[in-house]
Amino acid sequence: MSALPRLRSSLRLLRGLGLLERRCAHCLAPFTPRQDEAFCPHCLPRLAPYRGAACPRCGLPLPAADRSAAPSVPCGHCLADPPPWSVMLAYGLYEGALRDCLLRLKFSGELPLAGALGGLLARHLPAVAPEAPAPDHVLAMPQHPDHLRERGYNQAHELAAALCRELRLPLRHDLLWRTRRVRPQAGLDAARRLANVHGSFAAHAHSLVGARCWLLDDVMTTGSTARAACAALLDAGAASVSLLVMARTPAR
Ligand SMILES: [Zn+2]
Ligand SMILES: [Zn+2]
Repeated sequence: MSALPRLRSSLRLLRGLGLLERRCAHCLAPFTPRQDEAFCPHCLPRLAPYRGAACPRCGLPLPAADRSAAPSVPCGHCLADPPPWSVMLAYGLYEGALRDCLLRLKFSGELPLAGALGGLLARHLPAVAPEAPAPDHVLAMPQHPDHLRERGYNQAHELAAALCRELRLPLRHDLLWRTRRVRPQAGLDAARRLANVHGSFAAHAHSLVGARCWLLDDVMTTGSTARAACAALLDAGAASVSLLVMARTPAR
């Protein structure tokens, strides 16, 4: 028997014995992956990327009618106040199984979910963001050191690390940081969110001059945190920032 049929028959045997089984990262049910997927066949379609109509600047879902009339026109918010990033990609909407996974990653310390979600983003990226320039630096949305000490990890960093592992890119954690601790953004309206985070980031000017950056965060709501972080990178001399988020809230 040549090598390939022998390998196939060994895999069949291992599958038959249940030795290739793993637990789905979302529902925890055992399943046998066909390749190296982290989610079972029931959950994987529920974690498919959002392919509906959306604002190209902030990812806000748009009614299909608006989108077909003018496919590349930004939403009213972005027309009135254009965001500072050059490209924005949201993998999915912050609802259903994706929201559930991100909440568990952020609040329950289920760090393996970062690897599973980062893997989805990495596989999806080339198809949806060909316009994102190849990065000189990949960064995660930083947390304030006090906040990091309390939670013990930064979910955006964990997602970015998984993405970088998949794409074989280095992740920089020394180029962007928080200069002060801010109130939680939840519960604030858009204007208060912007004021809350304004000027709360600093960036390493020397390494950023002329650099194309990817900035990754777990969830985007109004985009005020991303705007403040992006402004710090551009002020430090970055040539462009592509904003990647795992999920975008369906409304601002
Ligand atoms: Zn599942
Ligand atoms: Zn928009």
